[in-house]
Amino acid sequence: MAESSGRKVLVVGGSRGIGAAIVRAFAGEGASVAFTYAGSADAAAALVDETGARAVRSDAADRDALVGTVRAEAPFDILVYNAGLLLTGDPLTLDADAVDRLIDVNVRGAYHASVEAARAMPAGGRIIVIGSTNGDRMPFDGLAAYAMSKSALQGMARGLARDFGARDITVNVVQPGPTDSDMNPADGPHAAMMHSVMAIKRHGTADDVASLVLYLAGPHAGGITGAMHTIDGGFGA
Ligand code: NDP
Repeated sequence: MAESSGRKVLVVGGSRGIGAAIVRAFAGEGASVAFTYAGSADAAAALVDETGARAVRSDAADRDALVGTVRAEAPFDILVYNAGLLLTGDPLTLDADAVDRLIDVNVRGAYHASVEAARAMPAGGRIIVIGSTNGDRMPFDGLAAYAMSKSALQGMARGLARDFGARDITVNVVQPGPTDSDMNPADGPHAAMMHSVMAIKRHGTADDVASLVLYLAGPHAGGITGAMHTIDGGFGA
């Protein structure tokens, strides 16, 4: 059933991977979809051709640009904040500027986009941020900054759920585990290590994550807020 038909959606970071699957899923239901991207202009253009969604180039690390984009698209019913960066390495030698950029995209952007979206969001609105199972569990070294950024989204969602609940706006986090994408290819060098801690020893798909997002955005999820929704093949079990 096309439960998102007629609703207006903004996906921040929608050009590739999980974000692109979310754009396809909403567009496939007849929603009016806009998405942002930063670097992948060709992928964004191809997704526009495929889905009829609108693409807006806007760097989520640039607060003024991001807030301006959200304001220009408002009002909309559903915000999905998917933009995210992954950075691995010894924290003693990692580039501090790269760590700060990760925090800008993964955390600061999520907060400012969510708050700006809520200003004009009607009752029944949905804010969904893409976190990670690593917000709960980090069994590998070299990923402290990434895990920190995804844990931060949990506190944000709990708090904003309280702030916006009286207006009937829900705020939730979807927490994927290893999911086949450019960021984390199913045939990548670390796949076997990830599968070793999973109950279902394979990468998930971006389409599966998009299905969970669609459910949380839909009419049966109006009572779900301030919650983390993990889809990780038992990575954290
Ligand atoms: P990809 O690297 O495949 O895609 C990332 C997307 O985010 C791209 O569309 C990219 O757009 C966009 N993006 C990145 N930086 C910016 C920016 N500064 N401004 C706007 N858009 C930006 O990642 P995935 O699809 O794998 O991941 C999507 C989300 O899911 C992330 O938040 C990630 O942390 C999370 N996640 C992924 C997991 C996985 O295993 N794949 C597991 C758990 C969580 P562009 O290329 O145009 O810049």
